[in-house]
Amino acid sequence: MLRRRSVLSALVATALAAQSGAMRTLAAEGATQKRRLPWRNWSGSQQCLPTARVAPASVEELQALIANAKGVIRPVGAGHSFTPLVPTDGTIVSLSRLSGLISHDPQTLQATLWAGSRLGDIGQPLEDAGQALVNMPDIDEQTLAGCFATATHGTGAKIGCMSTFIEGLQLVDGRGEVVDCDANTNAELFQAARVSLGTLGVATQVKLQNVAPYRLRRKTVWRNFDEILDIADDMADQHRNFEFYYIPFSGMGFTDVHDLTDEAVGSTEKLDTNDSVEDLKMLRDWLQWSPGLRELILTGVVNSLSDEVTVEGSWKNYASERNVRFNEMEYHLPRELGLPALREIRAALESQHHEVFFPIEVRYVKADDIWLSPFYQRDTCSIAVHRYFEEDFTPYFKTIEPIFRKYHGRPHWGKLNTLGRSDFRKLYPRWDDFSRVRREFDPQGKFLNPYLTELFG
Ligand SMILES: Cc1cc2nc3c(=O)[nH]c(=O)nc-3n(C[C@H](O)[C@H](O)[C@H](O)COP(=O)(O)OP(=O)(O)OC[C@H]3O[C@@H](n4cnc5c(N)ncnc54)[C@H](O)[C@@H]3O)c2cc1C
Repeated sequence: MLRRRSVLSALVATALAAQSGAMRTLAAEGATQKRRLPWRNWSGSQQCLPTARVAPASVEELQALIANAKGVIRPVGAGHSFTPLVPTDGTIVSLSRLSGLISHDPQTLQATLWAGSRLGDIGQPLEDAGQALVNMPDIDEQTLAGCFATATHGTGAKIGCMSTFIEGLQLVDGRGEVVDCDANTNAELFQAARVSLGTLGVATQVKLQNVAPYRLRRKTVWRNFDEILDIADDMADQHRNFEFYYIPFSGMGFTDVHDLTDEAVGSTEKLDTNDSVEDLKMLRDWLQWSPGLRELILTGVVNSLSDEVTVEGSWKNYASERNVRFNEMEYHLPRELGLPALREIRAALESQHHEVFFPIEVRYVKADDIWLSPFYQRDTCSIAVHRYFEEDFTPYFKTIEPIFRKYHGRPHWGKLNTLGRSDFRKLYPRWDDFSRVRREFDPQGKFLNPYLTELFG
């Protein structure tokens, strides 16, 4: 006899199955369905009520969808971008059902994966195949296609952004055609498609140049901020991956390095970063009226923190969980201008924005040759500022963005900024080439929502 709990589970399972059936029906019937599923991004800064949200189960299904679509189509990954890249009242396409490892080559260490794969889901299959990603960002929720579309990056002065790992790409373009590209076949498309904001088509498969599995030793050290500024440049050159954070109103920050190691897997006691952000918020709430007291207490607390060391397989040792939601602005600056800009940002934050408690994050990325990569032809220092998701980010970001721009920054494509087409044309020497190739593969502008029409329409 079924117990009450299993009856309930069975009912929930039936309801879920019906829901997923409904999703497929939605896929098939699109606009004829009255029921609409709202969409929102991770932070809630972007929302929309599309006519249809679909998840094709094959490339053929995707082709039919694109060829027959009447309105705008926007591909979505994990919804972790802050900019209005996805919202549409047309169709949102997710590749959540086209995910996983397709094939791999033990000689070249290249692997072909479905573009809808989430980073966190491919570490183990790649390791089982004797491969690992060269680098990763600070979370692993994103999809491969989502990462590549916005030039998502980790840190490492000698390592490019994630799009530089791509050896070949397959996409379904605006005419519903399957197109393959690499450095030799459709070479211009390849230049455009490696960082495309999802405006050329829906990427279905990617071939990546990986490396053999490796182990990383991550070391976190709390330091006086002036000391960090003195050593940052050298540390960026000496370590495989180097980044640092500044805790506003404390005069303190921490450096984080990852280096290759053969040491045994293990970890010292770790600070819970989500709890720490909550603590910073609480301190802000209590002591915003007295910056001096806030600084005194913060400096004392931070000074008492111990260094941390974690040794783990690479793909388990890059990402952390980010449970405290925020909105973010990140600009990529010429490497040599990063620290002068950071000094100015700190001064502006601490003189004008006592409401801010999120740390400032600083990373390094190597130059590349991808047309719309913010790292195009320049080694970069990336600086990111954040605000709690329930608080208005506008005043703070309005103070900081002119500093980023004064130092020739290019914004992260997935993070908040106020730039328009004329600004981007000045920042990207190959902007017009990208637009030309974009029009060729999406002649009817099927992939342009209002934001992207402003940029490329
Ligand atoms: C908590 C958090 C931490 C983050 N950490 C980092 C970090 O360390 N480094 C960094 O650089 N960024 C970081 N980001 C930003 C994030 O990596 C990028 O915004 C990334 O693009 C999100 O990927 P996604 O899968 O969520 O894609 P989405 O945000 O859903 O989409 C992003 C873009 O990809 C396009 N796209 C999605 N799927 C396809 C497809 N199949 N074909 C074509 N185009 C497609 C979309 O149309 C859109 O233009 C972070 C964001 C958050 C919220």
